[in-house]
Amino acid sequence: MKIRDMHWQHVEEYLENDDRCILPLGSVEQHAFLSLAVDAILSERVAVDAAEPVGVPVFPALPYGLAPYFQAYPGSMTLRVDTYVRVVRELLDGLRRSGFRRVLIVNGHGGNAPAGALAQEYSVDHPEMRVKFHSWWSAPRVAAETQRIDPAGSHASWSENFPWTRLEGVTLPDHRKGALDLDLLRVLDPAGVREYVGDGNYGGEYQKDDATMHGLWSVAVEETRAMLDGPWGL
Ligand SMILES: [Zn+2]
Repeated sequence: MKIRDMHWQHVEEYLENDDRCILPLGSVEQHAFLSLAVDAILSERVAVDAAEPVGVPVFPALPYGLAPYFQAYPGSMTLRVDTYVRVVRELLDGLRRSGFRRVLIVNGHGGNAPAGALAQEYSVDHPEMRVKFHSWWSAPRVAAETQRIDPAGSHASWSENFPWTRLEGVTLPDHRKGALDLDLLRVLDPAGVREYVGDGNYGGEYQKDDATMHGLWSVAVEETRAMLDGPWGL
């Protein structure tokens, strides 16, 4: 259930019987011909779909994340690492004050990894809390299903192209883009990244049929729901 569809007494009532919630993390950054907000759209939606049958509240996705390497692409945003970790920590503090004890962070962007380190630190600092960090697209079952569909799929390729991340009126290229050299990518400056990556796709086809993507999505929803079920160690 989305927090935006609840008022505070709903949360108070919920907390009498359960103490789980989900905090999705996104990033505003270039995704080739897809929405700049892909990572927040996907992390929030997979969280909402996973939580729906169990009634666990889902907070709005934190839209901004860490993407310093995309700064030569207009519209791409980044926070500094220390700012980001502080923001996520303060959001966790707010959840703890509210009475939530088991927090599933559903992450939509690889660059947000420092929040994963924070999740572990936070649970140690606050033994009454359990914070799990789940990067939905790289979790084992989704990663295996993505590999099975097409091993060539990466940032801004078909693997992030769902009916809910496409933009109306935008026609996608129908060729398969060659794989990029990720070791080279990691050492380029933002201008170099833009020059090397071009349209923004890291390699692979730009689009698959909707049935394939719905199949991948249901694996993602089930795997995220399993994270919500446990184990929590509390
Ligand atoms: Zn993405």
